[in-house]
Amino acid sequence: MKPVAHFNVDTHIHPFLKGQTYPFSLSVGNLIKIKGKEKIEIISLKSQSSIDEAILCRFPQLKLLITRTVGTDHIDLVACKKRGIEVKNIPDYGARNIAEHALALLMNGARSIVQANGSVHRGLFSYEDFLGTSFKGKVLGVIGTGRIGLELIRLTRGFDMKTVCFDAFKNSDAEKELGFSYVSLPVLLKVADFISIHVPLLDSTRHLMGEREMGMMKKGAVLVNTSRGEIIDEKALLRHIKKCKAVCLDVIENEKRFTLRNPLLKHTNVILTPHIGFYTDDSIETIGKKTEEYITHY
Ligand code: NAD
Repeated sequence: MKPVAHFNVDTHIHPFLKGQTYPFSLSVGNLIKIKGKEKIEIISLKSQSSIDEAILCRFPQLKLLITRTVGTDHIDLVACKKRGIEVKNIPDYGARNIAEHALALLMNGARSIVQANGSVHRGLFSYEDFLGTSFKGKVLGVIGTGRIGLELIRLTRGFDMKTVCFDAFKNSDAEKELGFSYVSLPVLLKVADFISIHVPLLDSTRHLMGEREMGMMKKGAVLVNTSRGEIIDEKALLRHIKKCKAVCLDVIENEKRFTLRNPLLKHTNVILTPHIGFYTDDSIETIGKKTEEYITHY
């Protein structure tokens, strides 16, 4: 068997992976805990591991780096190329799973389910603080019409909403098939009652939602992000947060350094989930099987 090491392995993915498995991230601090580093040829990991030259140089036999994620923004791809290390991601283990989580967050934002549940658990069975926003007749704005964005639009088709989208590359076939229209980002922000973000983290998308964009958002809008935290400038978000009905985030800036001091936690209209969009029974099985397939065919 080829020398393989898997990082960020949890109990659910564990049965699908063969080789050395570690629950922790691959980081400089954890190098000492890894057995036989100099012989390892294949590594699999997730976005909690940040891979750069300082780590790569400790694995002289490394030939294949598999990230069990869609995004590759946690890996220095230039450094991998320089060392002849092939990088593989898992681009479609089920866009539906993330779209379903985005929809759950949109619904939570519209109906304050998390906050209302907390209130009942504190002994107050009263509807008064929880006036909801209906979907029917409202405008959904989708930023990024790739796999996940389009799945979300498919899921919301029965909701009687108008859907407007922004993407750097228009998909005219999908626009016709699903009945949405492309608009500029400023127009989307001005008209959308619900906004869901589905772009990858690139230089061109970092802080795509900044001070100017937050200023353009409609008062009472519900903002959902299941893509990457760094797409939203959180300092700007915090300055505009009160105008949002709800801000529902599965991803935040610097999530690896999250603490209870995070200022987002001070706002009752914020719902945070810890990057669980991908995490379902269905996607875990697909990710595990695809990872082993890459290893077998290598
Ligand atoms: P995708 O590549 O299918 O679609 C991304 C879309 O963004 C494309 O249509 C692309 O044209 C558009 N885009 C790229 N740059 C842009 C720019 N500068 N301005 C506007 N549009 C731009 O990706 P996907 O599978 O839909 O995934 C989207 C992102 O979701 C991933 O990159 C990843 O970061 C994130 N994600 C999160 C989770 C989670 O658990 N929360 C799971 C999987 C993926």
